[in-house]
Amino acid sequence: MKNLTILGSTGSIGVSTLEIVAAHPEKFKVIALTAGENLDLLKEQINAFAPQLVAVKNEELALKLERMLSGRKTAVMHGVAGMIAAATASDTHMVVAAIVGAAGLLPTAAAIEAGKDIALANKETLVTAGRLIMDMVKARGVKLYPVDSEHSAVFQSLQGHRKEDVRRIILTASGGPFLNLSGEKLAQVTVKDALNHPNWSMGQKITIDSASMMNKGLEVIEARWLFHMPAEKISVNIHPQSIIHSMVEYNDGCVMAQMGIPDMKAPIAYALTYPGRVPTGVKPLDLTMLSGLTFFNPDIVRFPALQLAYRAMEDGESMPTVMNAANEVAVAAFLSGRIKFTDIARSIEKTMDLHHPRTLSSIEDVIEIDQWGRERCSELLQSF
Ligand code: NDP
Repeated sequence: MKNLTILGSTGSIGVSTLEIVAAHPEKFKVIALTAGENLDLLKEQINAFAPQLVAVKNEELALKLERMLSGRKTAVMHGVAGMIAAATASDTHMVVAAIVGAAGLLPTAAAIEAGKDIALANKETLVTAGRLIMDMVKARGVKLYPVDSEHSAVFQSLQGHRKEDVRRIILTASGGPFLNLSGEKLAQVTVKDALNHPNWSMGQKITIDSASMMNKGLEVIEARWLFHMPAEKISVNIHPQSIIHSMVEYNDGCVMAQMGIPDMKAPIAYALTYPGRVPTGVKPLDLTMLSGLTFFNPDIVRFPALQLAYRAMEDGESMPTVMNAANEVAVAAFLSGRIKFTDIARSIEKTMDLHHPRTLSSIEDVIEIDQWGRERCSELLQSF
């Protein structure tokens, strides 16, 4: 029996994780859940999985949830302290880190410090604090399994091989809903257009990141840390069908790829059960039903966000933190209709231009730089 805490249980990854848990009650037990604001769904999850502890975003929501639960034994906490209590609960063996954005960093770091194994969906943890997190993982001897489908594919394609034989990691990208749109039209797309991802059903922030290709930039940085690979050994191919989830090329010219129907339940389950595999309900892949698999290079002129991630890695350790913070602010501004889609990458780049990169000394340092990036980007957006 594996005891789980799910951080971000009311999100897209959280819900898929609980579907796997529900399908395999003999394998998993839920110890703690955390949510932001979706109390109705959290209440359903509490009724279904009876966690010892839950945490929500703030005190007001916690009080409301307590009233909704009337008499249930589940402890209700709130804020960062609540998220950390859930992440470090003594009975938990593994933490599924599925809060969106840099808000996931502190609880995930606390879980690692407490010696919990991690199934990592929250890529922003590694984008903002990659070296510090990987040092903590090593020092505490915990296992960090990727949930992101691309990184799960790389992880699977590395099994049984030697890292020193790897020539290149090739991350695939669907290209999102605007793959074939001209630069001019990109400036006019609506929030609804951007949320209409062709292959994946995900939370709003990552869906916008996929449309701008910042998601792939975040993933390149995530891969750098997860697989200890320099940026120049990580490349990106557009693959609109999202059937090959990513590849590893070895120095003898052989390429290992992992394929499947795009459904996050497969990589989530692999992270939960590695090295075992369990049925997930993911539809079997019928290659004869596909019209073909295509691959091409990303267009960095129309989608500059990917290049910003490579630049951030080159600039210095704190730059990805600033890039990520600016992206979160810009995506929120786009979602609320305040800026154009093309302003997302523009405002991130301008924020990065203001930053003098330095080495990150601690997680608290990361939080400070994240805050700095948010403030600068918000200021810049006032003139957009
Ligand atoms: P969602 O937006 O669907 O869910 C986010 C979760 O985080 C929700 O439970 C939300 O709570 C909670 N949350 C949001 N803000 C806060 C906060 N400030 N404090 C505490 N909890 C908060 O996101 P996804 O599930 O799509 O993505 C989660 C992470 O996984 C992201 O980092 C994403 O990049 C990554 N990922 C997602 C994939 C996907 O297919 N969805 C694929 C690969 C990676 P509530 O809704 O209750 O407010």
